[in-house]
Amino acid sequence: MKVLVPVKRVVDYNVKVRVKSDGSGVDIANVKMSMNPFDEIAIEEAVRLREKGVATEVIAVSCGVTQCQETLRTAMAIGADRAILVETSEELQPLAVAKLLKALVDKEKPELVILGKQAIDDDANQTGQMLAALAGLPQATFASKIEVADGHASVTREIDGGLETVKIKLPAVVTTDLRLNEPRYVTLPNIMKAKKKPLENIKPADLGVDIKSHLKTLKVSEPPKRSAGIKVPDVATLVDKLKNEAKVI
Ligand code: AMP
Repeated sequence: MKVLVPVKRVVDYNVKVRVKSDGSGVDIANVKMSMNPFDEIAIEEAVRLREKGVATEVIAVSCGVTQCQETLRTAMAIGADRAILVETSEELQPLAVAKLLKALVDKEKPELVILGKQAIDDDANQTGQMLAALAGLPQATFASKIEVADGHASVTREIDGGLETVKIKLPAVVTTDLRLNEPRYVTLPNIMKAKKKPLENIKPADLGVDIKSHLKTLKVSEPPKRSAGIKVPDVATLVDKLKNEAKVI
């Protein structure tokens, strides 16, 4: 069973991003980039499935600039067997990525595609769902547990106020939630091994996919600065302020 894992190169989650002065986006020049954390969880899960003997091959795929190769090497250091870079310097929106992934699903015919539930840069939470729709595959999103047996996957999903377990027929699309697993640390020997694993480089046109954007970002702005709080001497003053200044009670 082949497992395809799309991994996105995003600004590292420890970096505090700055909005560009012209409001056209965030400044990512000279900023540390890493694999989207939910995608690390996805790779880890796929590698565990291979280690259990359920999966036979784990393929990592990234769509974007040349530097996504680093993200793919990390995926292979975690344990992916090979990688595909769909290289473009164009801005890719979730629909474009979903179309590229659909073309790869047609080519590679994986039994399972495990994506992150969302990318921490655009917070879109769209690609997995769009891929499932385009490829006509069943989907189970926000997985906190995945069990594969008899051509099906049982996926436990984190929903408001509890857990839901769904059974889907393979091939299928699953997206990962934070509590699915804790990704392993990449070790130096595995980083070295990853350098020798195959990394295929293709272009969107090779997959016959049009990656044109369908929406335009009009403006990006910083959240308003919080003003400093004050200390009130007693409850009566607090109630008075809530009533007459904040007007919330
Ligand atoms: P999003 O819909 O943008 O929040 O992304 C959801 C998931 O889709 C991510 O966690 C990745 O697994 C996958 N994905 C999104 N963009 C890319 C990309 N450029 N390359 C590879 N995978 C991606």
